[in-house]
Amino acid sequence: MTTLVWFRQDLRVADNPALAAALESGDAVIPVYLFAPEEEGAWRPGGASRWWLHHSLARLHEDLAARGSRLCLRASTDSSSELLGLIRECGATRVVWNRRYEPAIIARDQHIKTALRAAGIATDSFNGALLHEPWTVRTKTGGPFQVFTPFWRHCKSLDDPAPPLPAPAAIPSPAHWPQSAALDSFALLPEVDWAAGLRAAWVPGSAAAHRALQRFLTDAFDAYREQRDQPGLLGTSRLSPHLHFGEIGPREIWEATRRFALDRGQHTTWRDSQFLAEVGWREFAHHLLYHFPQTPEQPLRANYARFPWKRNEAALKAWTAGLTGYPIVDAGLRELWHTGWMHNRVRMIVASFLVKDLLVSWNEGARWFWDTLVDADLAGNTLGWQWVAGCGADAAPFFRIFNPTSQGVKFDPEGSYVRRWVPELARLDDAWLHQPWAAPAPVLAAAGIVLGEQYPHPLVQHDVARRDALEALSAIKAT
Ligand code: FAD
Repeated sequence: MTTLVWFRQDLRVADNPALAAALESGDAVIPVYLFAPEEEGAWRPGGASRWWLHHSLARLHEDLAARGSRLCLRASTDSSSELLGLIRECGATRVVWNRRYEPAIIARDQHIKTALRAAGIATDSFNGALLHEPWTVRTKTGGPFQVFTPFWRHCKSLDDPAPPLPAPAAIPSPAHWPQSAALDSFALLPEVDWAAGLRAAWVPGSAAAHRALQRFLTDAFDAYREQRDQPGLLGTSRLSPHLHFGEIGPREIWEATRRFALDRGQHTTWRDSQFLAEVGWREFAHHLLYHFPQTPEQPLRANYARFPWKRNEAALKAWTAGLTGYPIVDAGLRELWHTGWMHNRVRMIVASFLVKDLLVSWNEGARWFWDTLVDADLAGNTLGWQWVAGCGADAAPFFRIFNPTSQGVKFDPEGSYVRRWVPELARLDDAWLHQPWAAPAPVLAAAGIVLGEQYPHPLVQHDVARRDALEALSAIKAT
């Protein structure tokens, strides 16, 4: 007997419940990946995600090959027919996979399950992506949570997630392998090579994910609460793209954190650590996406659908290019463009600037992030943008408007982040670094800066923009 293991966003061999279930049956196993971007609906992978996916698939193939197996690749516009074709080719009797939670994918998977079962094929799906399935976490009245703190408190009161499954030593092969497409035929890598910055910043794949986790635990876990908001430090785990593609699972992170803390005598504090709470935010994001599937496009708070956003192509373009004249905003957007990632604190600052200073809709920002982030994730991106825009669950209220200058001073006090990503300001004194427009002319001259030439004048005046934003807010409150 043969089982197809359909890999999706679970590109790992360890702690992979679908793979483990296939192996448990003793069947021959055919690992398959179907590249079917059209089936992702409006959210097919952007440029940076495609780059990551290429390398992640290559690493998964190597990890499977080391166990005597391989990854069968197919491009498809109809995964249901593709799987049925593969089943015919190799005589498989069962297909297993780990679940995803994006609305278009839930609908597709339901359709595929029905089609396979109608054809007499057994199917099983598993939880490989979350600590707790979204439908198992409920408020006292049985509904979904909409506030993070009680959500996470409730999650922590549930049984601990099952320990992660070990990587298999060997994977039994079928007598005949079905044909596989070449990875290059998916054309995931850019035609014009803009990915040098991504290559310099990242190593996709499970082995690198585990190295990143160990680096984080050893070097940054203890100081995480104090340092996680400082973009100039390596204070966070940088696991987000690895988690998105499933190169590492949250159960592995939970268990590694528990062990790390227990080994050092921290018997009670690890569960309440700020780091696991952030992994909890990831759970919360998936919980919300599952229960409120309209939110990638629609605000959770329906009245925000009437918010008078501006169409301002020039401002949006300056924002995407990191040329707003606000150094911390520009640094973040340039970090994103070069590395495919941006520090969480800076994501909040740049998002707030777009939505509240420029009054450009959060949907536009979410789209830009979608194309440029290596960790672009429908749950995380939707939660992040709606949180900042004040229109989501447990969101920052719209009227609390970040001041990009004081945020810069507070979270990049020595300016190392801004100096790295906005090198034209590198010689400017700390005192003026986050507000070059206010610097005396001789100070600017000594730093080699002429505003409007090397570095732009501010796109808007923050205090004026703030007033306009509050006025726009009162328009939806009044209706
Ligand atoms: P760490 O601080 O080390 O946290 C560990 C893990 O917890 C992360 O890898 C991530 O999986 C999860 N996590 C941490 N913070 C959050 C959060 N606020 N919400 C959800 N999960 C979180 N995250 C994405 O994975 N994909 C996105 O597309 C995405 N878009 C965002 C857009 C905006 C506007 C904002 C404000 C945040 C967004 N985030 C997104 C959340 C967050 O910025 C990143 O998860 C985080 O910066 C990743 O860095 P890290 O791995 O070093 O995180």
